[in-house]
Amino acid sequence: MKLEDFGYNENIQKLRSAMNLEDFHIGRVSSQHKNKYIVKTEKGDVEAEITGNLRYAAQDSEDYPAVGDWVLVMLYDASLALIHKIIPRQSIISRKSVGQQGKKQVIATNIDYALIVQAVDNDFNINRMERYLTLCYSSNVKPIIVLNKIDLIDTVKLESYIVSIEERIKKVPIVAISNKMCNGIVPLKKYLKKGITYCLLGSSGVGKSTLTNNLFGKEIMLTKEIRLDIDKGKHTTTHRELIVSNDGILIDMPGMKEVGMIDASEGIHTTFETVIALAKQCKFSNCTHTSEVDCAILEAIQNNTLEQSVYDNYVKIEKEKMHFELSIAEKRKKDKKFGKMVKQIKYTKKRTKY
Ligand code: GDP
Ligand code: ZN
Repeated sequence: MKLEDFGYNENIQKLRSAMNLEDFHIGRVSSQHKNKYIVKTEKGDVEAEITGNLRYAAQDSEDYPAVGDWVLVMLYDASLALIHKIIPRQSIISRKSVGQQGKKQVIATNIDYALIVQAVDNDFNINRMERYLTLCYSSNVKPIIVLNKIDLIDTVKLESYIVSIEERIKKVPIVAISNKMCNGIVPLKKYLKKGITYCLLGSSGVGKSTLTNNLFGKEIMLTKEIRLDIDKGKHTTTHRELIVSNDGILIDMPGMKEVGMIDASEGIHTTFETVIALAKQCKFSNCTHTSEVDCAILEAIQNNTLEQSVYDNYVKIEKEKMHFELSIAEKRKKDKKFGKMVKQIKYTKKRTKY
């Protein structure tokens, strides 16, 4: 395979020459398994580790190679290599690290375009779309909006969705498709180009895997044929993270699915939804969820379908919200009183004049 097939271009070439390390081979990280990486090179796929130097110099997760990275490697034999350097990244998609506050976890790098996928039957949500767009812009990735499952709604509704997107989001291509009916796949493929790197973003269930198969399907079969030690067995089909095809390169990995849900408000919102949905099932509509019989929330905590900490957090936020709303109400009341007082003074002044 040629380097260009998996994304090599003049820009990478320039960055590479600037590093003055001509003795090294260049390759692209296609997957990662703990300390090991699969790197695509002109000589084929090799299993690689990073040098001790790179490891000691690394201060952050961003200093380690990630899927999509161009790296300079020393090849020892047909399937063993050491990664010496990472070529400066053109784009980085990351998310908040789980557990480590304020830290970022790199999901993938050097992605040119993200297909932001929403399903029009029940996933359509412009706010969420804007959040994915923000992620794209802050990551230096160009967005393309894909509306999927258009077989499930009529054209009038679809048209209204497109109009409402265009009102708020300018200059981003919108492609409406149906994987099921194979509608719009050809127009979408017009946005794909050999040697350009793509990823799919969107909630689970919107059809990303189905679309991946429709756009890159034939080639996925090809990648399965690659046999490497760490890919033997269960990983052969699940860890095909960098898919190379004549229609472009797709970076497809588990972490992608949670990307874009980095906004705290989204987390709160979904937490709220679970609790609110449960509260509706309580026997008493004015249930305080403290000691009542047939309280759905207490039951859920008891049988571990709702975590105590999640509920406590909900109560805390609700209290804060209530406090906030109360103080606004109180302020209004005071304002009203003050207004009345002012009126009263004016009135008495008027009266004393005469
Ligand atoms: P992912 O979680 O985003 O990867 O979503 P999947 O690709 O697994 O799809 C979720 C479900 O939606 C599956 O049952 C698919 O068969 C279905 N699906 C995908 N695309 C379409 C479509 O265009 N129309 C309809 N009606 N169903 C679809
Ligand atoms: Zn209750």
